[in-house]
Amino acid sequence: MEKLARKQVQQLTPYLSARRIGGSGDVWLNANESPFDNSYQGAVSSLNRYSECQPKALIEAYASYAGVKPEQTLTSRGADEGIELLVRAYCEPGDDAILYCPPTYGMYAISAETFGVERKTVPLTAEWQLDLTSIEAKLDNVKLVFVCSPNNPTGNLIRREDIIALLEMTKDRAIVVMDEAYIDFCPEASTVDLLEQYDNLAILRTMSKAFALAGLRCGYTLASAEIINVLLKVIAPYPVPIPVADIALQALSEQGLARAAEQVATLNQNRTYLGEALAAIDGLRVCEGWGNYLLVIFPNGDELFKAAWDSGMILRNSPVENGVRISIGDRTECEKVVDFIEKFYL
Ligand SMILES: *Cc1c(COP(=O)(O)O)cnc(C)c1O
Repeated sequence: MEKLARKQVQQLTPYLSARRIGGSGDVWLNANESPFDNSYQGAVSSLNRYSECQPKALIEAYASYAGVKPEQTLTSRGADEGIELLVRAYCEPGDDAILYCPPTYGMYAISAETFGVERKTVPLTAEWQLDLTSIEAKLDNVKLVFVCSPNNPTGNLIRREDIIALLEMTKDRAIVVMDEAYIDFCPEASTVDLLEQYDNLAILRTMSKAFALAGLRCGYTLASAEIINVLLKVIAPYPVPIPVADIALQALSEQGLARAAEQVATLNQNRTYLGEALAAIDGLRVCEGWGNYLLVIFPNGDELFKAAWDSGMILRNSPVENGVRISIGDRTECEKVVDFIEKFYL
């Protein structure tokens, strides 16, 4: 029956998520998950009824956390669904394009490819910043420009003045989609304040990383009410299961936010520890990182990755030559990583 599928789909290689790649081991640092397994009260009732399309209490809670208005907030099955909604709502297959700047997150390309939308790329500069001149030269037909900051997998922040220049350059032509999946680890770098000035800005957020809820599948898109209303035209009728809204609300309560802030502080300390310990090893380059992961450039990244894999320490190889991305786990996991890598280079 595969031959009945759309040509585009027949040719598609699915996104190789950390989960799909698999592996076996006892140290999992390949998917930027949180090491904290927080517990929640499960009020599993009223499941005979459909959920609200956009649960009001949840929208209000996240809008308040993010410092925007409820009408500027949309919730979906993870930030990944936000990416997909933007592509589906704004890009005419065959005519329009998206633009993104590798090395970066893989789902922009996958979403566009799935819907038959052209992908244009402008690599990041040597400092992993935006190449604004080359972006400007490629903007024809581009409806969405994806910018990830902190960028996955490199970890660095994109310069604010360049983001503003990009917003100016694309005014009335394209939407700049800021992927802020890791912004809770460095909230001062958010572009959320720019929503007031720029109606061509959309911001993706998630509860998968700093809120330790990757398995919940809950994300947000922040944008002008006009963009949100367009996205609401293409979203599924019941995208947020009742238990998901329930747990997300607990995570956004005063106590939930305080716990998340503590855990973020701990992970940021662990990142400092891991970064300094690895930088002390000869031949390694630890890239500056602002999320819950570090990109480390090894003399022989593939070998290191495989050796770690074989010993049950699952890291993430990256498109950056000899680069291996290491998620920040608890302190014991960080110590195990340091120990393993030290021995490998002894
Ligand atoms: C993890 C991640 C996402 C996806 O988040 P979900 O809410 O789990 O779908 C989006 N963008 C980037 C850059 C990520 O690393």
